[in-house]
Amino acid sequence: MDKIWLASPHMSDEGYEMQYIKEAFDTNWIAPLGPNVNEFEKELAEKVGAKHGAALSAGTAALHMGLKAAEVGEGDIVFCQSLTFAATANSIIYQHATPVFIDSDYETWNLSPKALGEAFEKYPNVKAVLVAHLYGLSADMDPIIQMCKKYNAILIEDAAESLGATYKGKYTGTFGDYGIFSFNGNKIITTSGGGMLVSNDEERIAKVRFWATQARDNARYYQHSEIGYNYRMSNVVAGIGRGQLKVLDQRVEKKKYIFDFYKRELGSLEGIDFMPINDWNKPNYWLSCITLKGEIKPIDVILTLEKENIESRHIWKPLHMQPVFAQYDYVGGKVAEDIFDRGVCLPSDTKMTEEDLTRVCSVIRSLWE
Ligand SMILES: *Cc1c(COP(=O)(O)O)cnc(C)c1O
Repeated sequence: MDKIWLASPHMSDEGYEMQYIKEAFDTNWIAPLGPNVNEFEKELAEKVGAKHGAALSAGTAALHMGLKAAEVGEGDIVFCQSLTFAATANSIIYQHATPVFIDSDYETWNLSPKALGEAFEKYPNVKAVLVAHLYGLSADMDPIIQMCKKYNAILIEDAAESLGATYKGKYTGTFGDYGIFSFNGNKIITTSGGGMLVSNDEERIAKVRFWATQARDNARYYQHSEIGYNYRMSNVVAGIGRGQLKVLDQRVEKKKYIFDFYKRELGSLEGIDFMPINDWNKPNYWLSCITLKGEIKPIDVILTLEKENIESRHIWKPLHMQPVFAQYDYVGGKVAEDIFDRGVCLPSDTKMTEEDLTRVCSVIRSLWE
C-alpha cells in the first residue's frame, strides 16, 4: 500500500517553480538575494494585502525578527498562545523575554479573548502578544486587536499555518503589527524551507533585511554596529516560492475538498466533532482535524492508520505543558489541554486522490464497527 502523508510538498503541475529556478541558474543568481527574492517578497505581500515583506530562511527566523523589530527584549513579557508549535514561543526566549502562556477557546481553537483579558489585567505592562492561526483557522481577531490597542501591546501573528485563510474577508497575517508565514515542507505552499515577515512598516522591514544579512553597515569594508543574523532566503529557494504562490488558491480549494470529504464520510460517527468553522472565518484547511469524545481515543485512530501506512498526528501539545516551558506562567483553563487530549490531525495531503481519501475513511470507520 502506498504511503499517505499528512501533508507533503506539492509542486505545480505547470512547472512554474522550475521556470524560476532555471532563470536563477541561467543568470547565475545562486547566491542569496537576487530578483526571485525581491519578487517573491512583493508578490506575497501583494497577495495577502501587506505593504512589505522580508523573505527569510524559515518561519522561525521570521518570528525571531518580528519580535526583534517590535523591540521585545530582556525583562519584557510576551503573551503567547499555548496551543501551538514550540517555534512560536522559542522566538520569545531567543530575545531573552518572558512568555506567559494563554489558553484557547473551543470556538476558534486559538487565543481565547476571555483568557487574554484576564492576562492583561494580571500583566498590564505586557510588551507584545503572539497569536497563532492553527491549522488554517483564524483566531477571533477583533477583540484581540481591541485589547492590544487598549493596553498598547504590539500584536504579532503566527500565520505559519494559515497562508490563504481570511478573517472577515482580510488575510490572516495582516491584522497585527507583524505577521509571519512559513514555507516549510509540510505547509500549504513550500519552498522546502523558508519564511516571510510582513508588515506595513517599511522602515522596520528594511531593518529586518539588514539584521538578516549579517547587519553590515554601509561601508566599503565589513563594519558592524549591531549583531546580525544569517537569516535571508536564497534566490533559488525564492524561485520555488514564486511558483508555489501561483497555486496557493488551488491548494486551499483542494484542502477544503478534503475537509468536506471527511465531514461527509465520517461526520455521522458517534463522538466525532470537526474543527470549528466560523461565519467570519474562511480557513485554508491546512490540516483537517477532529476531536473525539467517546470510547475511541486519538491514539487508536493514529495507530490504526499507521498500520495501513497512513500518517496522522496528535494536535499540538500545549506549550504550558512542555517541560522546557514549565517555569512560565499560564492564564486560562483546560481548553487547550482538552483539545490536545482529544484531537487528531487527519491526512490532508493535497496530492491525495478520491481513492486515497476513501481508503483513509474506511480505515477510520473500521474502528467504529
Ligand atoms: C511551521 C510552524 C512554525 C515554524 O516555521 P518554520 O518555517 O518551520 O521555521 C511556526 N509556528 C507554527 C504554528 C508552525 O506551524
